Amino acid sequence: MAKITVIGSSSMDLVVTAAKRPEAGETILGEDFKSVPGGKGANQAVAAGRLGADVYMVGCVGDDPYGKAIVSNLQANGVHTDYVKPVPDTASGTAHIILAEGDNSIIVVQGANKLVTPDLITDALPIIRESAMVLIQQEIPEDSVEHVSKLCKEYGIPLLLNPAPARKVRESVLSNASYLTPNETEARLIFGETSIKQALKANPNKLFVTEGKNGVRYHDGEIENVIPSFPVEALDTTGAGDTFNAAFAVALSEGKSLPESIRFANKAASISVTKFGAQGGMPSRDEVERGLL
Ligand code: ATP
Repeated sequence: MAKITVIGSSSMDLVVTAAKRPEAGETILGEDFKSVPGGKGANQAVAAGRLGADVYMVGCVGDDPYGKAIVSNLQANGVHTDYVKPVPDTASGTAHIILAEGDNSIIVVQGANKLVTPDLITDALPIIRESAMVLIQQEIPEDSVEHVSKLCKEYGIPLLLNPAPARKVRESVLSNASYLTPNETEARLIFGETSIKQALKANPNKLFVTEGKNGVRYHDGEIENVIPSFPVEALDTTGAGDTFNAAFAVALSEGKSLPESIRFANKAASISVTKFGAQGGMPSRDEVERGLL
């Protein structure tokens, strides 16, 4: 089976529901609390694992109970964690989320995710070199993203960069990546003055702009195409992008064509938005294949 390596962030999301947000200096009682594993890297690894891929995660966790829970969750979803390093005297990545008055306020503490350094990535070279696809996002340092892109270029390993969350991407990274999957906001930030239409034309079969329920846009070298999404009643779109990217990487690593791979990824992501939570709705291989019949 083709191996996929996901290099990226992992975290524990600590979610409090309250009637209101406390003022500075105020203490209030909350209504509910949940801790759920997250982080774009871990989310994408879990989504690929549920789709039956032979997936390896490369990242860092702290030497705290959250780190242990993050690793157990990856393993429970079929992800190999040999390259997830527990770092002494460091906190795992966390997101502190307050859900109140119909809105959320979030403080992200990067913690161990800051330590996903170029050196740590070089240590994972044995698995990177055996991979049919490397999948990466932007919740780790910029130098590390650049380092991954250089290694993949040097060893001829296809690299899928999901440039989320939105930040500028270095020219060398854009050029080394085999596939780029920004949403519309990220595409506008990355390509700046160039219109998305021009960027698509200049990056045929490489740039795929996801447009939520409106589908995925790319240029095939002759014409611009839109592969439509699957209409569903969306309950929670958190994690739609993570599911899409994982499923796209899995399909491509299995040798499916571009249009087939996008269709597979659209189907997986459409199932994910019908359930709550980023990882909560990520489908199994069977669910996606039955949905495509
Ligand atoms: P998010 O940040 O919410 O995880 P994103 O902004 O990175 O997502 P989107 O373009 O919104 O990315 O969604 C990614 C994919 O998820 C889309 O290409 C599509 O396949 C699927 N998707 C998202 N929203 C819907 C929806 N309402 N109905 C059907 N499919 C959807």
